[in-house]
Parts: sequence; structure tokens; C-alpha cells
Amino acid sequence: MVSVVIVAALVAGAYLHFFTDAGASFPFSCNLPSPPLPGEQKLSECRPSSAPAVENSFPGPSGSQEIVDVAGQGDTLFSVLSANLPDEASAKDITLNLASVMQQGLNEPFDGLTPLKQGSRYSIVLDREGRLLQTTIEIDPANVFHAAIEGETIRSWKEEVVLDFKVETICFQLKGSLTESVMNIGEGVELALKVANVFRWDIDFQSEAKRGDTCRILFERRYADDRPSGYGRVLCAVYEGKKTGKKTAILFSNSYYDENGTELKKDFLRSPLSVMRITSRYGQRFHPILRTWRHHQGVDYGAAQGTPVWAVASGVVTFAGWQGDYGNYVCVKHDGGYESRYGHLKRIFVQKGQRLKQRQRIGLVGMTGLASGPHLHYEWLANNKHTNPLNVKMVQTLRSVHPELKGRFVTVAQERLTRLTGVALKEPVTRMSLAAQR
Ligand SMILES: [Zn+2]
Repeated sequence: MVSVVIVAALVAGAYLHFFTDAGASFPFSCNLPSPPLPGEQKLSECRPSSAPAVENSFPGPSGSQEIVDVAGQGDTLFSVLSANLPDEASAKDITLNLASVMQQGLNEPFDGLTPLKQGSRYSIVLDREGRLLQTTIEIDPANVFHAAIEGETIRSWKEEVVLDFKVETICFQLKGSLTESVMNIGEGVELALKVANVFRWDIDFQSEAKRGDTCRILFERRYADDRPSGYGRVLCAVYEGKKTGKKTAILFSNSYYDENGTELKKDFLRSPLSVMRITSRYGQRFHPILRTWRHHQGVDYGAAQGTPVWAVASGVVTFAGWQGDYGNYVCVKHDGGYESRYGHLKRIFVQKGQRLKQRQRIGLVGMTGLASGPHLHYEWLANNKHTNPLNVKMVQTLRSVHPELKGRFVTVAQERLTRLTGVALKEPVTRMSLAAQR
């Protein structure tokens, strides 16, 4: 009897690469695997696949076969299992059992009908009658789940992987948005978001990041059994831009500071949205709907309908509701005689009198009232006078490292900044080499 390895679909570069080095933690070609006891790290009886899968079949005592594939768009645990098992009833039982373990392991709502992350790898091992022996699904290197039939019962468990962090450095130039630039060098969106978050009080990446700016990051990369699996903390980042100048962020006792020990966290955010482009600036402009010249009392940020709008600082809501041309409108009073106003919202999440924290969601971008397209109309007032929000030198209270910790901070800052000097510029990688990396 010969066991057959069926590889359905996908012969992409990334996938082939997977066969060559991932066999150790993902049992692709088990010779009739028996499940490990809970806590055991790997299926030691699995032979790692090191050659193309089809040639890698070897005799199994019971004529087992293994199906290996990746989840496509809309695939669910149930759809994957029921497509490969002879009867729906057993697919249902296994789905229920495995889904509950996956929900626990992933720590988020999950059931058999939850769409699987596209590209999640799975294997299904069947006996000669086509009944399930074991199935494995890998959402990412840190989240690998198994289910096995043991006599009459189904046992599901999460594979224990050793999670580890390594400190790494990277240096790149901006070509396109921050997100695009990070992805161009083969890194994940998550890293771009972390950097944008670190500098959120000082850099408005939408309007101030320019092509050719450089960014250097000292960060933790997470490894699951020696395979890259996301990011940890950004320990230090230096951004040098034409418009922004040089900005430095050093993580020290859970906050970010510049090289002089001044905290980056400020009372006012640079902008009320994470994703936008400025479509109309403050001052005189020709109104596209009224077709007259008017003074534009704020700034218009173009953003997709439904983009969350944040309060730029903590404060109290003084108005929340419909206000003529402004549509759904929210006004927030802040300390120091400042006020921010947000117009054309699709939805409002706050009420008059409510206390808000900085970056609390107050609504969603929309086009209610007099608006030619979805955008946020944003106004800034100082002592009841309209001011250009883009020019406002907001009076920010600056906080410094505690004097007693200053010595320690200087050591940490020097050490991290030194690690970032001389890091070679990483050039954008091509699609082919990107695929090979994954
Ligand atoms: Zn406007």
C-alpha cells in the first residue's frame, strides 16, 4: 500500500518555499501520525518534507493519504473539512471540537463558519476508507492547531511553540506612503502602524512624509519556533524627513522620549484621522457646491466613508447632532481655551456633556450636510477664534524623564541610537524575492 500526498492548487513561489523549510513544525508528510500528548512540542514521527511533495510520499501501513492546501477567500474550517471528508456529520463533529480549541487559542471569537485567514495552511490525513485520522491547521507560525481521532473520540489541541523575541534593525527610504514603503522592503503593515503610532504626536504621515525621507527602526521581531511571526515593541526609531526634520523616539519605561528625554506624548494629536489626504485647506476658496468664494474656516480631510474620527485631545463634548450645512457635527472643548469641531460625520458615537479621552472615537467620516464627497471638515479654535489647524502651534505641556531616572535614560538612549547608526539602507525587494522570504 502506498500513501499518496495530494497537493491541491497553488504552486506559487511562496508555497514551494514552504515545503523546503517548514516541514519541521508542520506535519505535511506524516507516516501515519499519532498525535502527541499535550505539551509535546512536535510530532517527532513526522518526516520533514524536503523534496517536492508528490515525490515525498512513502508507504503507510494503512494506506493513508494526506491532503495539503491553503485556505482561499471565504474558506471556513467547516467548508474545508466537509469538502474533504466523506460525510457531513463527521465534518461537523470535528469542526465543533477543533473550533472551540481554536477560539481559545486565538483568543477571539471563532467558530466553524468564521472565514479563515487567507493562506492559512492545512493538512488532512485520511485512512484508506477516507475517514479522518488527523488534521492540522496553521493560521500563522504561533497558532498551529491539530485534531485527531482517537478511537471514538476527537481530541483537539494547540501546538506549543516557543515564542521568542530578537532585537533587529532596519533602515529604509520612503517611496510612496509609509505603509507602502515598509511593505516594499518585505515587512508587514503592522510595523508601519507601530512606527506611525510612535510618532503620532509629531508627524502627520499623510501630509508630511515625503519621498526620500529615511526611517531607521530598532525593534523586536517575534519568532515562533525560529520562524518570524510578527513584531514586538519598537525600541527606538529615527525619522529624517524634508518636512519633518529629524525626529527621534526612544522607548523608556513604557513611554517614548526624544533624545533629550522629553516625552513624545502630547496633549493634542496632529490630526483627527489615521488615513486621509488634505482636500481643502484653511482660507479663501471657491465652494464646489455653492459656487461662491467663501472663507474656509477649517481643513477638509478626504477619507473613505466610515473611517474613524478621533478626538485630538481629551475634553468635553459641547455639541453632538445635526447642524445644517455641517451635517452631523461634533464640538469638543479642551483645556487651555481650545476647541475642535468635526463635520459631515456619517455617524456620531458621543453625546453632549460626555468626557472624552484623547484618541477616543467620536464618529465616522461621511458626507452629511453640504458635502460634495466623503470628507471630514475639521476646525480648530483658540479662545473662540478660528485658527488654521495645520499651522497651530498648540500649546503642549512637555513632560520629561523623571530626574532620578535621567542617568539610566541617557545610557539606554545612547546604546539604542548607536545600534541604529550605520545600519545599511534596505532596498525595496522584488516580488519574486518577497515570495521566497515568506
Ligand atoms: Zn470644510
